[in-house]
Amino acid sequence: FQVPPAKNEPVLSYAPGTPERAELKKQLKAYRSVEMDIPMIIGGEEIRTGKKVSIHPPHEIKHCLGHYHQGDEAHVHQAIDAALKARSKWAEMSWEHRASIFLKAADLLAGPYRQKINAATMLGQSKTAFQAEIDSACEFADFLRFNVQYMTQIYSDQPTSAKDIWNRVEYRPLEGFVFALTPFNFTSIAGNLPSAPAMMGNTVVWKPSKTAVYSAHIIMEIFREAGLPDGVINLIFASGPVVAREVFDHPDFAGFHFTGSTEVFQSIWKTIGENIHRYKTYPRIVGETGGKDFIIAHKSCNAQEVATAIVRGAFEYQGQKCSAASRAYMPASRWEEINNEVQAQLAELKMGPPEDFRNFMNAVIDEPSFDKLESVIKEAEQHPEAKVIAGGGCDKSVGYFIEPTIILTTNPHYRTMEEELFGPVLTIYVYDDLKYDETLDVLDKTSIYGLTGAVFAKDRYIIEKTARRLVNAAGNFYINDKPTGAVVGQQPFGGARGSGTNDKAGSLLNMMRWVSPRTIKENF
Ligand code: GLU
Repeated sequence: FQVPPAKNEPVLSYAPGTPERAELKKQLKAYRSVEMDIPMIIGGEEIRTGKKVSIHPPHEIKHCLGHYHQGDEAHVHQAIDAALKARSKWAEMSWEHRASIFLKAADLLAGPYRQKINAATMLGQSKTAFQAEIDSACEFADFLRFNVQYMTQIYSDQPTSAKDIWNRVEYRPLEGFVFALTPFNFTSIAGNLPSAPAMMGNTVVWKPSKTAVYSAHIIMEIFREAGLPDGVINLIFASGPVVAREVFDHPDFAGFHFTGSTEVFQSIWKTIGENIHRYKTYPRIVGETGGKDFIIAHKSCNAQEVATAIVRGAFEYQGQKCSAASRAYMPASRWEEINNEVQAQLAELKMGPPEDFRNFMNAVIDEPSFDKLESVIKEAEQHPEAKVIAGGGCDKSVGYFIEPTIILTTNPHYRTMEEELFGPVLTIYVYDDLKYDETLDVLDKTSIYGLTGAVFAKDRYIIEKTARRLVNAAGNFYINDKPTGAVVGQQPFGGARGSGTNDKAGSLLNMMRWVSPRTIKENF
C-alpha cells in the first residue's frame, strides 16, 4: 500500500466576515458558558478521582473553565498496566490500519474539531486565533499526515537479498511502553509526542503540562473518535514527581518523548541513568528542550525585514516558543533605523484577551512565569549595563500580562543575553560594524543552547561566513527570516547542544527512534 503524499493543511485567515471566524467565536462562547469536567483516560476508561483542580484562562484568572481530576501513584500504575496490556494487539495490527486512525484524526482536526481545538488552545493557553490555528489545527494535522508518510518510508526500507537468501528487516515497536511528557506552548507538540510512537506500534502513557489539560482533553477526544483502541494512549494527570517515580522505576519503561525545560530533561535523564539496570531494554530518549535563540543583523541587511523579524520572532505567543528570538545583535550603523521601525511596529500592537481578535499578544502562561519575568525586567531597569527601551509594564490584576519588552545592554553577556526566560523579553546588544567576526564568536559562546537563530544580510559572503561560523549554534538556521514558525515537512524542527537530542519533530529521524528493528536472514 501507499499513502497519499502528505500536504500541509492550509492556514485559514479568520478575517472579519469569514465563516471560520463566526464558527470560532461561537465555539469560544460555548466553552466559556460551561465548566468542563475533565477525567483521566486510562485503558479507554474515564477516571474521575474527585480530587478536582480548577482551570483558569491565563488572561482572565477569575473565570473558571472547568476542572480536571488529579490522579496519584495508583493511577500512573494503572496507566502503565493498560499500556502494556494493549501492546501486543496494537503492535500486531498492520501498519495501514494504524495509519488510517491517525489520518482520520488529522481530518477530524482540520474539519469538525478545528474550532474546538483552536478555542480550547486560545482559552486554556492564551493564544491568539492565528497562533492557535497555525499550531493546534494546522501543525498538528501536519504532524499526523507527514508522520504517516515517514512511517511508510521506514517500513518499505528493506535490505538487499541474494540468490537463495531472503534478508528482511522487521520494524518492531520498542519492547515496553513509551512515556510522553508534553509542554503547554504547542497543542500540536502535545498531540505529536504521544502519537508519533503510537503510530509505530508502541503504547503510551501521556502526561500533559498541567497548564494545557484543557486542550489535551480535546486531543484525546479526537484520537478516540478516530478509532484509537483503548489503552494505546493513556492520559494521566498527576504531579511530576509522582509520575516520575512510577514510570522510571518500571522494568518495561522503553522510551521517553519529551518537550520542555532543559532542567527537567537533564534531571529525568539522570534518573533514567540511575535506573538503567532495572530496564529490559535501553530506553530511547528523545527530547526538545530550551533555547536562547538569536537574530544577528549585518550592516548589509534590510532594516524593515529585521524589525519585523524582531517583533514577530520575539513577541508572537508572548515569546513562549522554544524558538522565540530572545537575544539580538545589531550593527551600530543601522541600529537607529532598525529601532525606529521596531518602535513604530510595537506602537501598533495590542495586548489583551484572545477573544478580542485585534490583540496581537495575550497573557503569559501562569503566575510563576509572570513573577520571574517581572523580576528580570525590574532588575534590568536598575542595572547599569541595561536599559529598558520598550514595554516593561507587568500587570496581573486580571491576567498575567507582560508588555512586549526590549532591554538594550552594553554587555553581550548580560544575564538576559544568556538565560532562557520564556516570555516577551528580548535583549539587544549593539556591536561596532567593524567587529562582526568577533560578534559571531561571542554569539556562539554566549549560550548553552543550539535551537534556532537567524542572520539578516544581503551580502552573500557574509551569509555564507555566518552560516559556517555558527554551524553548531542552531538546529534551525534562518537566512533573512525570523527564527520561529517551522512548518512540518518543510523545516524539520529541533536543536542540539543544550536544546535537545535534535531528532527533529515530525521527521523520518524522529519516527525511526520508535522502532527496534529485527533483521531476519532466511536461507532457501
Ligand atoms: N516549532 C516551533 C517553531 O518553529 C517551536 C516549537 C517549540 O516551541 O517547541 O516556532
